[in-house]
Amino acid sequence: MCCLPTFFYDYRKGAKRVRGVCSACGQEFELAGVRHNAEGSCPCCGRKFTMKSNQKRGRIWDRETVSVVQRLRENELVVRILKASRWQARGCSAELDFYEETRIVIRQTKPGKFDVFPYHYSPYDAVLTPWKTGYPPVMYLYGQNFNAETCGYLYTRNLSRELKGTPWQYCQLDAFYEGIHDQMEAAPYLAAYPEIPAIEFFVKLELFWLASQIVYRGNSKDGRQLINLQGKNLRDVLQIDPSDLPWLQRPGSGVQDLLLLRILRREGHLPDGEFFFGSSVECVGKEN
Ligand SMILES: [Zn+2]
Repeated sequence: MCCLPTFFYDYRKGAKRVRGVCSACGQEFELAGVRHNAEGSCPCCGRKFTMKSNQKRGRIWDRETVSVVQRLRENELVVRILKASRWQARGCSAELDFYEETRIVIRQTKPGKFDVFPYHYSPYDAVLTPWKTGYPPVMYLYGQNFNAETCGYLYTRNLSRELKGTPWQYCQLDAFYEGIHDQMEAAPYLAAYPEIPAIEFFVKLELFWLASQIVYRGNSKDGRQLINLQGKNLRDVLQIDPSDLPWLQRPGSGVQDLLLLRILRREGHLPDGEFFFGSSVECVGKEN
């Protein structure tokens, strides 16, 4: 799949500026210095893109995975994994197609404990239902099965409505998704949250990497507990000085920064840019 969005434009001979559309944000604008297959960035959304002349390109085709979260019961959610594809031949209008491939139910199994129960669509031996237990096969004979991919974009417009009044009402899934700027798997997050409600505060503090670590990799680093989930305040939980927080909110921060801060504090040092970047940069807060 193509990694960069595309700037589609109509080539005009001798024109200094040409008009086109950014596939990431859908905005139309004029751009100078446009060349087929060159890279540039969108003045509207800031994303990097590849420039493609409408005259030179062949069929455009792309497909993506999208997660839609819905409430089944007060204590039960389903994450529906949709596969969407869109293709457009030259001179024709675009066609959109989608289907549901996997459903992941998140259900309470013990007090405070939630588990995921996946089902996949398999119409070939349908007796009562085409939905079979488990994920689709990850590999086919000829390669990887795109249908087995559960990581994707998240549909967020229905989230507050679906989660209201459930144990996930304050889970911050949409804020987390926005904060990580990436595709994600929603089910592990939703299963982890009722057990570790501190995830809500990590996301509110914009410690997205920490929420991600806890949800997807667990609370352990080299066999040691990473953070104290029983802690009553930030100092207890993260074992750092609250004034160190901006160091952990920088884009690109991670577990190593947390461990480094602890060592510095233990040795009686004040963290500064020299420790983190090898130069005397001051950290005054999160970057916007
Ligand atoms: Zn754009």
